[in-house]
Amino acid sequence: GTVSRSEATKSSVSAQVLERAKKSLAGGDSSTMRVLPYHIPLVADRAEGCRLWDVDGNEYIDLNMSYGPLLLGHRPKAVIEAVTRQISEQGSQLGFPTEVTMRVAEKIKKLFPSIELLRFANSGTEACASAVRLAKTYTGRNKLIMFEGHYHGWSEAVFTKYHAPLEELPECGYGQAIPGTSGMGDSIKDVITVQWNDLDALERALAEHGPDVCAVMMEPISGNAGLLMPRDGYLATVREMAHDAGALLIFDEVITGMRVSAGGAQEHYLVSPDITVMSKAMGGGYPVSAFGASAEMMQCIVKGPLFHGGVFSGNAIVMSAAEAVLDTVLADREGIYGHLHSVADQLANGIKDIYSRLNIPAQVNHLGPLLAAMITKEEVDGLYNYRDVRRHADFERYIQFQHWMQQHGVYFHPNEFEPMFLSTAHSSQDIDEVLERWEEGARQCL
Ligand code: PLP
Repeated sequence: GTVSRSEATKSSVSAQVLERAKKSLAGGDSSTMRVLPYHIPLVADRAEGCRLWDVDGNEYIDLNMSYGPLLLGHRPKAVIEAVTRQISEQGSQLGFPTEVTMRVAEKIKKLFPSIELLRFANSGTEACASAVRLAKTYTGRNKLIMFEGHYHGWSEAVFTKYHAPLEELPECGYGQAIPGTSGMGDSIKDVITVQWNDLDALERALAEHGPDVCAVMMEPISGNAGLLMPRDGYLATVREMAHDAGALLIFDEVITGMRVSAGGAQEHYLVSPDITVMSKAMGGGYPVSAFGASAEMMQCIVKGPLFHGGVFSGNAIVMSAAEAVLDTVLADREGIYGHLHSVADQLANGIKDIYSRLNIPAQVNHLGPLLAAMITKEEVDGLYNYRDVRRHADFERYIQFQHWMQQHGVYFHPNEFEPMFLSTAHSSQDIDEVLERWEEGARQCL
């Protein structure tokens, strides 16, 4: 029963390792996202394909896939071969321009026609920070419009309290950003956060701040707030409104790039941003990100005055990994995204069916291999922005359900705001297995 399982959890090897880790690593790991208080301790040992094993020997079907990078699954052969070749025959870090970096840039340009020149960095945080500096430099303006529930990394200029309690959010739908952490400098004071998917709120924000706004920056699919899709025409209208105000449009495609479609959300929705940021899926599990724009805009870096650098930016290991991912995708776009969409459809439809048969109020959103299966407090007719999710999602019940699923071999993140990620390594049989447990878990816990 539940009691013995939770007893077992407390004395698990994972729990013991985490206790020991807390003596050397602040909080037990290097990202707070991985050691939240409502996590059942899970210290990973190894993984392959869509499966992961913890240090207790438990096996999981992984629906988190390291928060998105593992588009081709854990330990994809093509990536291992490319990386092995790079480190054994050419070098891990050469300290000079390398051809592999150039080839990766060329291949990204094939998938993202809005990008003429780009730069690589090591994390989404870094690339977003540079994208904002680029917008500020190019326009000569300092204010930035962002959206509630959107996350662009933890750097000075953009880290807002993106999951703020409802009572802290202004009724008019936009206002001064709330800093996301202590210790921030002044640049966050230049950020206005607006309710997403709400053109009126954006119009009001632009009416007040327009002439000072360098860019409107968003996740084109709201992936850090329960996976919310843009309303019909929303992205194109935002682009138009930004341009009318003399501001740029920045798409943070860290989650969506090479995931919802090879060319990201901009390809799926046919709306081109001025500046694109991507990371996660393009690296197949290696730490890489990129930001890019028109050649004209990127002259700010080519000729100055904007600086961008990084000892590890364009590191040869991650470039060889990214090239393997890009080659795999470019060789068989239809096959790869066809598979990703089909397993995601299977999972989403299966979950919807379970929830509806069991009368569980829920909202299942998905696009391609991104999926959110939110449990709500009551039946709701669509969730369109962060405030909707905050108001209606049943975070407590979701955590209980997630705990049951984790203890029965299926892992996804316990925070209802976090989407699930599928990969080419998830087969239709794996999804059947997930659905079987989902049904049992839903019957037990929901
Ligand atoms: N932008 C988005 C949309 C993200 O989801 C994330 C991270 O999850 C980031 C930026 C920051 O990326 P990183 O954690 O690699 O710094």
